[in-house]
Amino acid sequence: MKRVKQFILNNLKTLLFVALLFLFLSVIFVIILNSFKTNESLITTKEQAPIYTGPSSRYPVLYNSLDGVKYEVRDRSGRWVEIYSDEKNQSGWVEGYLTSLNLPEKETNHNYLKGKTIFVDAGHGGKDQGATSRSGKTHEKDLTLKTALMLKSQLEAKGAIVKMSRTDDTFVPLKERKAHADAMVSIHFDSLKDDFATGLTVIYKDAEYEDYAYTLFNSISNKSFLISREVVTNDELAVLKIAEQPAVLLELGFMSSDVDESMLVDKKYRHLAVSGIVDGLNAYFGA
Ligand SMILES: [Zn+2]
Repeated sequence: MKRVKQFILNNLKTLLFVALLFLFLSVIFVIILNSFKTNESLITTKEQAPIYTGPSSRYPVLYNSLDGVKYEVRDRSGRWVEIYSDEKNQSGWVEGYLTSLNLPEKETNHNYLKGKTIFVDAGHGGKDQGATSRSGKTHEKDLTLKTALMLKSQLEAKGAIVKMSRTDDTFVPLKERKAHADAMVSIHFDSLKDDFATGLTVIYKDAEYEDYAYTLFNSISNKSFLISREVVTNDELAVLKIAEQPAVLLELGFMSSDVDESMLVDKKYRHLAVSGIVDGLNAYFGA
């Protein structure tokens, strides 16, 4: 023991130096390790960036990001990043271009429809007339066909490939109204006993296609003169049930409303509603 003590006393300076060197190298090692962690999974956001509950601005905003806060990356979906904040103890989605990842910003005028296949279903047809207006002059099956054909030509002008359930006044059974496509739109017009109800309703099958439904609802509302009525879910509608892709059934106004009928029979108004559908599809594919 004496020898050991003597050795320590004799080499105190050297031992101290070795201990300090070890401490110094440990600190450097931890710093390097942390910097790797920052590069890989911790990001910052631009000031006050909105954080949404899902990967689209159609979802509700949870809060606006805080200055200087580091967020952990949890997931990615297209241009969107899911981040987790220790401070808030919750995760949310932010647009990638608003983060230190510097993902490209969405081009609003970009045509995302080129090469996409859209299945357009003109509701009713042939012996199935659908609803009839109060004036008795307008049948739903004629309006759905006119609207669907207009949609076809607008989509094709954008370079999309369009499949139709019918292109003339023929009866097509519900179970045959399906096709391989990237998205599906079924065109209908609503009807109720009284003439008070007006406006646009978008129906979708399940939560998976909620974003698709809201995107179309918002863009048709923006373009057309239809009153924005509601977006509803219904898993009983045959055309939606058998659809193999994002699908919606659009009720583009009420046959039973004199106000809506006067608009629906006018090509200019129909053109606006159809432009809204095209914009919505483009926004959906660009999201
Ligand atoms: Zn219908």
